[in-house]
Amino acid sequence: MTKLNPKPSTLIPKRVGIVGGGQLGQMLTIAAKNLGYYVAVVDPTPQSPAGQVADKQIIGGYKDDKAIRELAKDVDVITVDAEFVNTGTLSDLEKQGKQVFPSPQTIEMIKDKLKQKEFLQKNNIPIADFREVTTQDDIKKTGEQFGYPMLLKARTDAYDGKGNFVLQSENDIEEGLEKLINRELYVEKFVPFVKELAIMCAQNQQGEIVTYPVVETHHKDNVLDYLTAPADISEKARKNAQNLAQNVMQHLKGAGVFGIEIFLTKDDNVLVNELAPRVHNSGHYTIEASVTSQFEQHIRAITNLPLGSTAFLPKAAVMKNILGTRTGPGVTQGVEKALQIEGVTVHVYNKHESRIGRKMGHITVIGNDINECLRKAEEARKALVI
Ligand code: AMP
Repeated sequence: MTKLNPKPSTLIPKRVGIVGGGQLGQMLTIAAKNLGYYVAVVDPTPQSPAGQVADKQIIGGYKDDKAIRELAKDVDVITVDAEFVNTGTLSDLEKQGKQVFPSPQTIEMIKDKLKQKEFLQKNNIPIADFREVTTQDDIKKTGEQFGYPMLLKARTDAYDGKGNFVLQSENDIEEGLEKLINRELYVEKFVPFVKELAIMCAQNQQGEIVTYPVVETHHKDNVLDYLTAPADISEKARKNAQNLAQNVMQHLKGAGVFGIEIFLTKDDNVLVNELAPRVHNSGHYTIEASVTSQFEQHIRAITNLPLGSTAFLPKAAVMKNILGTRTGPGVTQGVEKALQIEGVTVHVYNKHESRIGRKMGHITVIGNDINECLRKAEEARKALVI
């Protein structure tokens, strides 16, 4: 780990702007308000999760040039809660002297998965083999080389597995192309991973890096279902994952928190699956389980405050996502029942509408034993209706 707590600049920006007012923006806003900052957000939905806790919400989309420029006039520093933002506008504002973190070029590179893979490859970071494809014939030829299964992936606007199609054989190519029609695509070799891991990292404006522990992520239908911390892996695997995260961070420009998703293969080898230029679902557990939450860490990093300790406090922690199970008003029932379970914290994002599979909140359980935390997380989830 690099040295902590650089001497902070005396010029601490006090007005933070966030492009994006979803749950990540909401938890960032709460962290910034705790530090006494003014917060304004841009989000298309009135009374967005972040808009409910911020000083001001400007109504506008993540790519709305006018709204982002209006935000810039109101704040000292701008950050994002998603990568699908107008990086052109952010770049322009940065050129005009506005502080934007992470760097718009980094967001631009990460939001295009093909460019991200090219960046990782150029920097000798281990990843799955990949290739840009534009025609059915390209895919067929790559399939002959990579073998099946193989993943067909959309380059942009792709998250939570949306934009991915698993090709089991050459016969699936047509269907994959139909599903991902009008999208720019690339293909990726299938990784026979034994576990999926994640590490949250942060970098300050002086380039100093801190990393959180290696955690284990468990997905259902391509969406994070639950996470266990620390990861139940060998010391060698843990070291490899930590080294990989450090290595990636050395190459990323711009202050802030980054999420690194990792595949662990047998023989304890690690490959980067993908990067997030922002706080991440895999770091929600840090609110209860770490000395400094990922949200506070991000706000510290972008406002030139000393980075905080990433020490893990309990013996074990579990984070379980609360995904919508019906379509209707986003009213949460059963919180009082869930909170009767010792060690359970419930976070409700207060989205106006619930939809099947929509991230509506999350549960964190801390304790002495992963299996006990998991049992409690399941029990708490069952108690909630949303
Ligand atoms: P992504 O949104 O691209 O991270 O993909 C969502 C999920 O699909 C990942 O969490 C993995 O479970 C799976 N996946 C993605 N890429 C690969 C790959 N190259 N090999 C095997 N599984 C993959």
